[in-house]
Amino acid sequence: MGSNLGDSRQLLMTAINNLSDVRAVSGVYETAPVGGPTQDAYLNLVVEISTSLEPYELLSVCQGLEQEARRVRAVRWGPRTLDVDILLYGELQLTDPDLTIPHPRMYERAFVLYPLAELAPELLPKGWEAPVADQVIERLGDWPL
Ligand code: ATP
Ligand code: CA
Ligand code: CA
Repeated sequence: MGSNLGDSRQLLMTAINNLSDVRAVSGVYETAPVGGPTQDAYLNLVVEISTSLEPYELLSVCQGLEQEARRVRAVRWGPRTLDVDILLYGELQLTDPDLTIPHPRMYERAFVLYPLAELAPELLPKGWEAPVADQVIERLGDWPL
């Protein structure tokens, strides 16, 4: 999840509270925007949930949370009250523009890798050469995020 518009802390907290079966929540990271226009810093975090929802149902839930935060889509990678992406869904691999899992850009994003490493340092997503924690070490130069 990420937010850089409005009361980001509160928006993230509300989104987490509206998720069912939350198993773990990472710390909150203040991160520089990547891509998109000049904009304020983000707050990012990663949540682990247990779910019986199918992937596309879960995507709808994520989009519902964004709507509750009154997200407005203007420019790509522009400022937003709330962005909720699915990073991983068990071992599932999906390649569809509407839902690609693992998230196609997570590997290169330190703002994803750092919080993810708190929850799943040993995780080795399909296609990766090294686990999440090793990938964080590779990106130590990106600190502070
Ligand atoms: P990025 O995908 O690079 O993080 P973004 O989050 O700003 O960019 P959005 O405008 O929020 O992009 O989403 C664009 C579309 O991405 C959504 O309509 C959604 O269908 C699609 N999408 C594809 N894969 C995923 C995923 N794993 N999680 C969430 N949305 C996804
Ligand atoms: Ca995103
Ligand atoms: Ca998104």
